[in-house]
Parts: sequence; structure tokens; C-alpha cells
Amino acid sequence: MKAAHFTYHRPTSVDEAVAFLDDYGGAARVLAGGQSLVPMMNMRLWRPLALVDINRIPELSEVRAEGTSTVLGALVRYTTLERLPLVAERLPVLAELVRHIGDRQVRNRGTVGGSLVQADPTGEFPLACLVLGATVRVVGPAGARAIPVAELYEGSYATVLELEELLTEVVFPPAPAHFAFTEVTRRHNDFAVLSVLAVGDRDAGGRWRDVRVGLGGIADTPVLAEAAAELLNGSDLSDAVIREAAELAVDVADPPSDIRASAEYRRHLLPVYARRVLTELRDAPLRGEQS
Ligand SMILES: Cc1cc2nc3c(=O)[nH]c(=O)nc-3n(C[C@H](O)[C@H](O)[C@H](O)COP(=O)(O)OP(=O)(O)OC[C@H]3O[C@@H](n4cnc5c(N)ncnc54)[C@H](O)[C@@H]3O)c2cc1C
Repeated sequence: MKAAHFTYHRPTSVDEAVAFLDDYGGAARVLAGGQSLVPMMNMRLWRPLALVDINRIPELSEVRAEGTSTVLGALVRYTTLERLPLVAERLPVLAELVRHIGDRQVRNRGTVGGSLVQADPTGEFPLACLVLGATVRVVGPAGARAIPVAELYEGSYATVLELEELLTEVVFPPAPAHFAFTEVTRRHNDFAVLSVLAVGDRDAGGRWRDVRVGLGGIADTPVLAEAAAELLNGSDLSDAVIREAAELAVDVADPPSDIRASAEYRRHLLPVYARRVLTELRDAPLRGEQS
């Protein structure tokens, strides 16, 4: 099947893009990498009256330092995150995570803004943004606003963005030095059944602080295991503390049953993988350090 008829617009500035979106009053869609949008249109699950292609707006592809923060334009591709020295230096967790997304073709086209707005509960990038405390910048007919990623999602495939709003940038505060990530997939680079990301800093005495644990695929949005993180902060991440934290992580799970796995199976996997990730966080040498 092919997409229903639509009008195509290719603005060259953010203001022009927002004006097009406003003109259609919610009946147009932004076209970024097209990796989710185009299949949905081809299956006729979505029938927008128009597409507003943002690929010719140069500033949306920028990556820059803003003081200690790092800013990614909405059109930054996953592949760029894998390769860019600034990302490797400041946000190495992103470079590692995006390697789990789709295949090379998907990573060459897929964008960070598209991933955040698509709001797939198993998406690696939304999970990383939540765990790293990122904020998105949005421009709409009523002006600009900033939304913490922790407040971006309303549910599965649903954000608080208006359809006339354009996500322009993602802003990351400095990231903790250590991270560990794993995901369970049925096939290599398939969408995740479940994923766990943990970050944190360790002081000279071996105590951990700024520990954050995020879970993907176990609820209708990515979630933080806050009670587990509270237990881990200030501890030395002993085996006993890790075991207890991994059990606490299950409390935030409200897993779906779908074609990839049953809710029961996801619930079974969660503490097992949470334990593995936290152990890896504790034991892995800091990137760049000798083990
Ligand atoms: C074979 C395959 C495998 C995949 N595997 C994975 C995977 O393992 N993990 C994963 O996370 N994803 C996966 N994806 C999805 C991929 O990450 C998509 O790239 C992503 O979900 C959407 O990004 P995009 O840039 O292609 O957005 P598009 O498809 O262009 O847009 C997606 C949605 O976001 C909206 N949108 C896009 N940009 C903006 C913006 N700046 N402001 C406002 N709205 C915007 C669009 O209107 C649309 O509603 C896969 C896709 C394919 C085809």
C-alpha cells in the first residue's frame, strides 16, 4: 500500500516550518528521518494533509557546547552521535546506546527529534534523555518553550507537544562519568523487549552518587527507578545493595504484553537485567582508564 495524497512543503527556517504547521491547524506532520512516519503513512495508519520536511533547515543539524551543557539539534542523526568527538567526550553513553537502534540505514536517516516525538516506549534515545536529565526546546505558533524529558510523555507514542509545535533542540546537562546499558531483543537490533540504563559517579572512597536507573519497554513510557536509585546513592554498590535495588526496580514496572514478549516474561527479566547492569556499572573501568 502507498500513502494517501498529501501536500509537501520544504521550509528553510524554523519560523517558516512553524508557519506551515500552524496553517494546517494540526493536520500536517513534520518529516524528519521518515523512518517511522513514512511506514505509518504507507500503511495508512496516518493520513496527514501535508508534510513539512525540516531537512533543509541547517541549524537543526548542529551539535554544540553551551557552557557545560551539550545541545543537539533535532535533525542530528544517530550516526552522527556514533562518530562525533564532542559526543564521545561529553556524552559517550549516547554513542554507545544508538548502536542498538535498527540497522545502519535506519541510523543514517533517523533523528534525535524524530525519536523523541515518536515516543516509542522501547526507544533507546528517549530512555537516555530521561536518565541524563535532558530538556527539549520547542517552537510553536505561541512562541518557544522548554520541556524536561521527564515531563514530555503522556503515554505510549504520545507526547505533550501540540501538532503545530516543532521540537528544535535537545539540551543535556553534564553526564555522570560511569554508565552501563543492556537490552533484550528477539533478534539483533530489533526493538527492545526491555532495556536498562544506569549512570553514576564514584568518589575516591568508592561511594556512589548521582546514580540514576532508567527502564525501557516495561511501561508505556521510559521510566526512572527512583526508589532503587535512592538506595544505591551513597552506597558502595555491594552485591547485597544491588540485589535489593534490582528488586525495587520491579515496583515501577507496568509491562505490556505484545508480539515481542508477555508482561509476565518482562517482569521476570527485569530484576535479572537490572542486577547485571548495576554490577557492570560498579565493575567496569571508566572509559579511557586501564582495567
Ligand atoms: C527497520 C527499523 C528499525 C528500527 N529500530 C529501532 C530501534 O531499535 N530503536 C528505536 O528507538 N527506533 C527504531 N526505529 C525507529 C527509528 O528510531 C526512527 O528513526 C525514529 O523513531 C523516528 O525518527 P525519524 O527521524 O525517522 O522521524 P520521522 O519518522 O520523520 O517522524 C516520526 C514522528 O515524529 C514527528 N517529528 C519528527 N521530527 C520532529 C520534530 N523535530 N518536531 C516535531 N515532530 C517531529 C513526525 O511528524 C512523526 O510523527 C526503527 C525504524 C525502522 C524502520
